[in-house]
Amino acid sequence: MSDCLFCKMAEGTIRPDVVYETDRVLAFRDINPQAKSHVLVIPKAHIPTLDDLPPEAPELAAELFKAVQEVARCEGLSETGYRTVINCRGDGGQEVYHLHLHVLGGRRVGWPPG
Ligand code: AMP
Ligand code: ZN
Repeated sequence: MSDCLFCKMAEGTIRPDVVYETDRVLAFRDINPQAKSHVLVIPKAHIPTLDDLPPEAPELAAELFKAVQEVARCEGLSETGYRTVINCRGDGGQEVYHLHLHVLGGRRVGWPPG
């Protein structure tokens, strides 16, 4: 999608600070980190929200979660732990309408979320 920020990152028009990449998935550092380590994992295809993730293509969901595991490993979070968050639409706090998984680590995060 031409006016989507994360599509521009996936296409390479805007180059974020990339942590991990495959043919279908990209992981990059959040511009406004909420923890010592804050990485976003996105599908390269434009999928607006979690609800738009096609159930007939479960391999993409699997690839996104594999990317989260790889990011956690690369960031040294596998032992200390980390939080993975998907914000969905208004009440979920979604601001960028291109599906992304937040990976937050490097500090003890609170529960429940605010
Ligand atoms: P959400 O509220 O779940 O839609 O999260 C959107 C995230 O995108 C926020 O954590 C922002 O800090 C992050 N973000 C916005 N613009 C950029 C950018 N240019 N590069 C990296 N992260 C960004
Ligand atoms: Zn997009």
